[in-house]
Amino acid sequence: MTTLEHLNAGWLHAPPNPRISCHCLLLRDRAGTALVETGIGLQDVRDPIGRIGQHLIDLAGFKFSEPDTAVRQLARRGVASRDVTHLVLTHLDPDHAGGLADFPGAEVHVSSEELDAMRGGHPRYLPIQFGHGPRWVSHGPGPAEDWFGFPARRLDLGFESPVLLVPLFGHTAGHCGVAVRVGPGWVLHVGDAYYLRGELADRDHPVGPIAAAQSVDNAKRLETLERLRVLQQDHGDEVLLLGYHDVTELPQALGGSAAA
Ligand SMILES: [Zn+2]
Repeated sequence: MTTLEHLNAGWLHAPPNPRISCHCLLLRDRAGTALVETGIGLQDVRDPIGRIGQHLIDLAGFKFSEPDTAVRQLARRGVASRDVTHLVLTHLDPDHAGGLADFPGAEVHVSSEELDAMRGGHPRYLPIQFGHGPRWVSHGPGPAEDWFGFPARRLDLGFESPVLLVPLFGHTAGHCGVAVRVGPGWVLHVGDAYYLRGELADRDHPVGPIAAAQSVDNAKRLETLERLRVLQQDHGDEVLLLGYHDVTELPQALGGSAAA
């Protein structure tokens, strides 16, 4: 059986915007352990200016706390860095990829479009976060399999539960959701396809202009959001959508308000 646990690997707070989370998922299976998203990492905490830079720290509201890093939280749950066999990233923005260096032995799964965009030198990414030489495993553009109408890319983790990258482009060139089968249903981690869950219900949500400004292709981002609304409407009983930044989607024990 593949089990799923939630963790929040860091906070961002740039007033007047609300405090937002770094909602990661820990998947444990007999075949290995995977971390979906990596949050703000130990190296970021130790050298915020050198790694992130003051401008981005202020802009995004990065908070640095060693106990909040994924590697420290996993250790408290009995999972050592070397036990993590796979990292699965929705995209490579600094608040998602900061913890990569804390798991140097893990394979790092990402879409080929995202890896290309980072390697192509797009300025939104921080090369220093990849300086340790991650063991990249890129996926796509093909072959794809149908997942609720999305052309998904299955990861070969050997886990009992299937894990798929689901293209949700727009925020970045290769931004993907991560779908994991949990019991009879699915969890879809949508990364930054929405910042706040309220965007699913409200097409004029106040966070919209920020999301538009942060996206590389806003038309694609809006198209993605529309597809997620349809997914939620048609299959909301089978698929639980979760984002990275919405505090209300975190379990209460982690500072959120969602049922565990
Ligand atoms: Zn983000």
